[in-house]
Amino acid sequence: MSAPVLEITGLTAGYDGAPVVRDLDITVAEAEVVALLGANGAGKTTTLKAISALLRPSAGTIAFHGTSLDKIPAAVRARLGIAHVPEGRGIFSGLTVAEHLRLGHRGERLDEAAAYAYFPVLSRIKDRKAGLLSGGEQQMLAMGRALARRPKLLLLDELSLGLAPIIVEELLPIVRRFADDTGCGVLLVEQHVGLALEVADRGYVLSHGEITTHATAQELSADQSRIVAGYLGEQHP
Ligand code: ATP
Repeated sequence: MSAPVLEITGLTAGYDGAPVVRDLDITVAEAEVVALLGANGAGKTTTLKAISALLRPSAGTIAFHGTSLDKIPAAVRARLGIAHVPEGRGIFSGLTVAEHLRLGHRGERLDEAAAYAYFPVLSRIKDRKAGLLSGGEQQMLAMGRALARRPKLLLLDELSLGLAPIIVEELLPIVRRFADDTGCGVLLVEQHVGLALEVADRGYVLSHGEITTHATAQELSADQSRIVAGYLGEQHP
């Protein structure tokens, strides 16, 4: 059997020497959608940042297709096929949709047609400046840009931020389809637990920086009220 797309072992990471996540083990296989769930501040964004090298872990290893990424900087991880759509989307208001989809951050050619295939609405607003788009359109653009890089691992950080649930309901199945079509592994951070579990294969629950539950999406769905109650308990101790 081939190595998973992502294999995190014993990851500890944080800021200024203070760990935020501790001893995490997470795997994502080819074509798998994995949800990373947890309360605000549990450490989900921190985990994604460590994977894309925006943050240096203090312990543990992160392997991509069986090869350690430990000494590999962010730009090279991106070139290897790790695409990160951050909270806040990372798009430029003065550039048009098409400009976002033609060239990557480092001038690399993107597969513009792939973005339009998954998000047809983007092809109809190609010439519009990103700053004039609605929140949903901006999120499609951020995701389309990531897909246009033909990633092997897609890290999605709260794509629902500021969006109506109905838009999230449209976007998440596209992530599923992309994983199925291309074999890309997806690690999805999402506050809409129910919607995330509808498209995910498995999920991890992070609580105060540690994984407290790891199960199939089906099992987590059945246990959703307990998971969400757990979050609320954490946020309002
Ligand atoms: P959210 O849904 O609110 O983004 P999260 O699970 O993604 O939550 P993180 O953003 O990883 O959580 O934050 C975890 C903890 O790390 C929080 O206590 C946060 O205050 C702290 N933190 C995040 N970014 C920094 C930073 N740049 N410097 C110092 N502390 C940080």
